[in-house]
Amino acid sequence: MQIKRRLAAAGVALGVAAAATGAAALSAQADPAGPSSPTEPVTWTVGGLTASDVAELEQLGFDVAHEHGGDVHIIGDQAVADDLRALGHTPEFHDTVYKDLEVTAQQEGTYYGGYRTVDAIEAHLHGVADANPALTRLYDIGDSWLKTQNEGGHDIYAVCVTAIAAGDCEQDPDSAKPRFTLIAQMHAREIATGEIALRWIDDLVAGYGTDTEVTDLLDTTEVWVVPVVNPDGVDIVASGGDDPILQRKNANDSAGNCGSRFGVDLNRNSTFEWGADSTNPCAETYQGSAAGSEPETRAVEDWLRSLHPDQRGEAESDPAPDDARDVFITLHSYGEYIIIPWGYTDTAAPNDAQLRALGKAMSASNGYFVGTNDDTVGYSTSGTTDDMAYGELGVASFTFEVGPDFGDCGGFFPAYSCVEDTLWPENRGALMTAAQAAAAPYTG
Ligand SMILES: [Zn+2]
Repeated sequence: MQIKRRLAAAGVALGVAAAATGAAALSAQADPAGPSSPTEPVTWTVGGLTASDVAELEQLGFDVAHEHGGDVHIIGDQAVADDLRALGHTPEFHDTVYKDLEVTAQQEGTYYGGYRTVDAIEAHLHGVADANPALTRLYDIGDSWLKTQNEGGHDIYAVCVTAIAAGDCEQDPDSAKPRFTLIAQMHAREIATGEIALRWIDDLVAGYGTDTEVTDLLDTTEVWVVPVVNPDGVDIVASGGDDPILQRKNANDSAGNCGSRFGVDLNRNSTFEWGADSTNPCAETYQGSAAGSEPETRAVEDWLRSLHPDQRGEAESDPAPDDARDVFITLHSYGEYIIIPWGYTDTAAPNDAQLRALGKAMSASNGYFVGTNDDTVGYSTSGTTDDMAYGELGVASFTFEVGPDFGDCGGFFPAYSCVEDTLWPENRGALMTAAQAAAAPYTG
């Protein structure tokens, strides 16, 4: 294939080490016409690529952040743009990664204008659970990679929110109430997603007994939330302060000498249809050494299996039955998509029409485009959480790609005010629609 020869001939160094450091000292005002310095990571658009071209760039270690219709975004500094030019591509400046900060005096426990650190999030979850024992139960569902290595790290927390009756909020798939499960910040640098998950928890707790819709929901449904799947990664992101680090993967650095590009992509590490993504430990989509190799992956999968009954047969073509229950959403950024299974193949999922229908109902709130990987980002993914939740358990599963691809509220690092002003409000209704559908997601 032509691109392989070109890549080999160009001798591009793997790793693209400068891209993910976020270490560039930024001037106060980014130049909208381009990067403010040669070492500032920015978003470049590269057009006219085939799916296999994109896969090659990922395998080489380029940070392919977003794709649509043959155009991809690649994050990196000027040296990365030069590497792309050496391969025959024409990168064009798209947008800055870092947005102007409205708040410069940092609050304790926050970074980049107000985003909460992992420690602050954990303190908040404990506070909510302690103050609301009739509505919440907090679970430790597993350890981060660093914790398994006795190198610090974190527990991974899940909160169950419902009007707790006897037997509710137990980790048993045979529950009286149907369930809506939500996870966020599996990719650490998708920083708005954790904040949205926290607002969802707080909104439900505050609304019980005062808001009819919330009260009805919590009387009939269990809502479970993991606000931060990848706490080690979020610690790395937050360590950059006003210039957050672009860490996507977990903190497992055992697979190779990658400089700042270590880690396993937890959304390529799930056990369902694992193994067709990057084998380069330095790539942003590195799938790990084996299916479910990472403790964060196992924590989430075991948690999903403990909550959702197995409702689907073994064959790819087996539909979940019309009376199946439960909905799962994994929050990612960015692109304003609601993505339905399958991710690993462009064959339609057996419940395709039903998944699209619920996707469209959610889109009435956030306006996001509904479709499969093939319809939206245009590439296949293997070992993703949504394919696992639907494929193994038959849960109606969706990936939200939160936020636009450009501007102050776009990309991985939207200005903090965007969370409160647009990203949370536009998604609150979509999450409510998902939760209300948990009893019968396939019947419309
Ligand atoms: Zn993501």
